[in-house]
Amino acid sequence: MLVLSGKDLSEIVKVQTTAKCREFERRFSRRPCLAVVLVGDNPASQTYVRNKKKACEEIGIAHLDIEFSSDITQDQLLGCIEELNSNAEVDGILVQMPLPKHIDELAITEAICADKDVDGFHPQNIGKLLLGQRSLVACTPKGILRIMDHYGISTQGKDVCIVGRSNIVGKPMAALLMQKGRDATVTVCHTKTSDLKEHVKRADIVIAAVGKVNAITADMVKDGAVVIDVGINRVPDASKKSGFALKGDVDYENISKKASAITPVPGGVGPMTIGMLMENTFLAACYREGADPSSFGDA
Ligand code: NAP
Repeated sequence: MLVLSGKDLSEIVKVQTTAKCREFERRFSRRPCLAVVLVGDNPASQTYVRNKKKACEEIGIAHLDIEFSSDITQDQLLGCIEELNSNAEVDGILVQMPLPKHIDELAITEAICADKDVDGFHPQNIGKLLLGQRSLVACTPKGILRIMDHYGISTQGKDVCIVGRSNIVGKPMAALLMQKGRDATVTVCHTKTSDLKEHVKRADIVIAAVGKVNAITADMVKDGAVVIDVGINRVPDASKKSGFALKGDVDYENISKKASAITPVPGGVGPMTIGMLMENTFLAACYREGADPSSFGDA
């Protein structure tokens, strides 16, 4: 059984992106720049933002930090995005989700200029992805493909079952896998799926993006399947300093006895998501400069 270490792969990606950013700086006398917008004091969001800024610093991406209290109005936030859209120094804009309830997340996502949408959530980027055109690709699905490529897991002709249909994971994942070249036969399951086990059991590759501990159990998975666990769930754990442990969506202990390959949590998909965000910021910077990203070294 192969443990698919996104942690190890993200270190390789980091080295590659660092080299490309250094070359970018040499050519354009500036670093790629990511604007990071945080609203409110959600502890998980603060952690994610901290980790993203740290990754920027390690890789050589400049970051512009913008923080608002949770009572900011939607119009004020839209005004900030407008400024960042027209700020020539900014290549990528990231607004950390979730936003306070009084702010329409879709309105914010749509307000970000598609060329600076390094999260790949803008309708224009999602639409291009579906059509198989060049776009900024959502980081988590992109990271999952990178893991499979790195470990030599082909999706061609495979039955892939994605559990979860969110706009940020399930839908773009399905769109990517059905493209020519990836050639998977994709099933997308959700809460209204009538027999989840039947669909999961048929799959050569299972991708769980549910948000529930043990949503996928060993009896649901066929022998030799590849299992990708996207879930990040905080469960109380008194032995941890933080008071919680991170668990995925799949029963790792039992599924790892029958799967051919599996991603752990933590150390699987999560680290790749940040790696792909850094890569997308580099790509956005290249596109804005009219530079061919492949001229900076390996893909
Ligand atoms: P989400 O928006 O909450 O969507 C969850 C999806 O799972 C929905 O489509 C829901 O169906 C489906 N679902 C929930 N319970 C189900 C069940 N019992 N049977 C079948 N389907 C079920 O979640 P998300 O944003 O995609 O995130 C999913 C998980 O991945 C979370 O744990 C999140 O923290 C994690 N995540 C990790 C990363 C990373 O970098 N590793 C990135 C993003 C998200 P309905 O549509 O019918 O409600």
